[in-house]
Amino acid sequence: MSIFLNSLLIISSFNMNPDYLDSSSAYGNEYNFSNGYSLFIQSVNKLNSDSKNDKENMLSKLCFEICDNKDKNSFRNKFIDVFNKINKIYRNAEHKKIKKTDKLVAITFDDGPSEYTPKLLDALKKYNVKATFFVLGVRSANKLNILKRINNEGHELASHTYNHYALTNLSNSSIFREINNTDRYIIKAKKKPAFLVRPPYGDFNGRVRNIFYNKGKACIMWSFDTRDWANKNVSYVKNLLVDKTKDGDIVLLHDIHKTTVDGFIAALPILVKKGFKFVTVSELMKLREIKLEKGKVYSGGRK
Ligand SMILES: [Zn+2]
Repeated sequence: MSIFLNSLLIISSFNMNPDYLDSSSAYGNEYNFSNGYSLFIQSVNKLNSDSKNDKENMLSKLCFEICDNKDKNSFRNKFIDVFNKINKIYRNAEHKKIKKTDKLVAITFDDGPSEYTPKLLDALKKYNVKATFFVLGVRSANKLNILKRINNEGHELASHTYNHYALTNLSNSSIFREINNTDRYIIKAKKKPAFLVRPPYGDFNGRVRNIFYNKGKACIMWSFDTRDWANKNVSYVKNLLVDKTKDGDIVLLHDIHKTTVDGFIAALPILVKKGFKFVTVSELMKLREIKLEKGKVYSGGRK
């Protein structure tokens, strides 16, 4: 019984705090039972389940899962597993509260994944914010685990083609190859091909758009070009993002530069404080009632 109570108390502390907390470091903390239990019930009630019964079922199911383990190690593993599940439900519920009238921004990262992407994902997780990653096929082959992480953590996995060639210089068959060869990796991570494609250098014409139409892809540009690749400076990236980000923006950044990742991470809490809600490109369009269609070009989602 004490294991059961402790686990309730430990879980309760996470649900009341939307900030990212690491389950392994929190395990073993002690909490006052009467406070902890009521906090836990309150937090479960905050979850966006459809009915009271759903919440109660979820609660009892989680409790049974935890109580089922008598062995200390298996209990600990089970606890972390259950913690991660309930934390994910809570985070998703928080994210779903974002509405059309909020100050919305879609941050996009091009040209990755890179060695800096995991650090970026950690920061996004900490603040429970979502972004869109336009990945290159050529960089994805040996970083499939990062592609999977991007998808699993609720970000949008999109295509930036395979080699980063200017598409208008290529033959039709080469453009098809650039798209198909990248989708091969994206399918491995999210079980379906990318719907959103950003042409390298923003370079497209009617012929490229026709191919996007035939391949069932929407063409995504941007409204805020940070030129982070030309200004590899943490303060530049941070200050520009803090000063210039506007509602409805699709912001262009590159997660292959350490200065970009560090500058963005420095700007993130300030932008959160300013009231920005971070959504994926598809979420931005849906919230602003802009229909994403194959072969069409999009560059923002202002009110
Ligand atoms: Zn690029």
